[in-house]
Amino acid sequence: MNIILQMKQHVGNACKPIVKPGEEVKKGQLVAVPEGLGANIHASVYGVIDTVTPEAVTIIPHAEQPEEYVKIPEFDNKLKAIEEAGVVGAGGAGFPTHIKLNVNLKGGCIILNGAECEPILSHNLQLMEESPEVLVRGIKYIKEITNADKGYIAIKEKHRKAVRALSKVCSLEKDIEIKFLPDLYPSGDERVIIRELLGITLEPGKLPLEVGAIVQNVETIKHVVNAIERRKPFITKDITVAGRVKEGKKGKVFLDVPLGYPVSHYIKLTGGYVQPFGEITLGGPYTGQAGREDTPISKILGGILVSMPFPQETRKMGILACECGAQEERLKEIATAMGAEVIAEEKCKRMIEVNGRYRCDSPGECPGQAETILTMKKKGIQVLLTGTCGD
Ligand code: SF4
Repeated sequence: MNIILQMKQHVGNACKPIVKPGEEVKKGQLVAVPEGLGANIHASVYGVIDTVTPEAVTIIPHAEQPEEYVKIPEFDNKLKAIEEAGVVGAGGAGFPTHIKLNVNLKGGCIILNGAECEPILSHNLQLMEESPEVLVRGIKYIKEITNADKGYIAIKEKHRKAVRALSKVCSLEKDIEIKFLPDLYPSGDERVIIRELLGITLEPGKLPLEVGAIVQNVETIKHVVNAIERRKPFITKDITVAGRVKEGKKGKVFLDVPLGYPVSHYIKLTGGYVQPFGEITLGGPYTGQAGREDTPISKILGGILVSMPFPQETRKMGILACECGAQEERLKEIATAMGAEVIAEEKCKRMIEVNGRYRCDSPGECPGQAETILTMKKKGIQVLLTGTCGD
């Protein structure tokens, strides 16, 4: 089974490969560098380079895969270590972390986003339960890098085991505090976190940085710690596999799997499909996209969800989009898979246009949608497909 390292696993431009077919590579070896905005990509296995294209580097892995890896160079500068390790936002955003953290937050704060917001996904929860000390060390490193005064851990109270584990470690830290998020979707949205923790409402399109805060995903913080303490490049990913797979009822978590293996490998490791099954959704149930068995694990892939076959729908359909859940493109993709004819499209009434993109003006404070639905009914819809989370 070949390893496929995509050259674009981050926000920005595709990376430029620096290896050639036939070349031996070691786990952790640098194989591609950014051209402009981006992040280094390293081999996730020992093997031989098979193919190199502008889109991907393919490696034929050796049968033996020792634990050791090629370490990144030693740096006194922690930000440089994060850059060299190719760390990007592992929660799905993929923004290069060394750029995000290259700020002075004097008087501001770092917030660990422990919402584990999408239903079913639980790899971040497991990481918080099992390695709270790593995450707290990571918050301290990021505080030091950004000169922030305070660290917060934003988590839902219902995640008691993780709360207990983190509280124990935090009790020794005077500048790191746990704060609870409401148990709703999308409480992991950065603007919801800022509103709930700091009492500040960010306008649509504004970033937490504008109020002196950085919100960082749980797994990303682990990669920051790996880069600083173990000189380990970003070559593994945490994932949850769930749905119509034999051991997927509660979601099976795999921590630290090598980048580049196909999704089908982890479906097999979760017992294989349960019949009948439908789409492979990559990401969370709310914001995921349709994927394929040969899609490789990337730095931004967290969920592999196998759905039921979509029911076929012959009635006239309307779609109602939400910024934080499924948007028009995804809803149309599902409608097509259902064989439905879409005759009306609307957005949640809280969505407003900012710089050419529709954004929610108050995520999580979701209104009723009766008026919008009545408008669509007048247009003749008989059934509604909605991506809104509140109604
Ligand atoms: S207010 Fe509307 S757009 Fe915003 S999160 Fe709720 S349903 Fe989605």
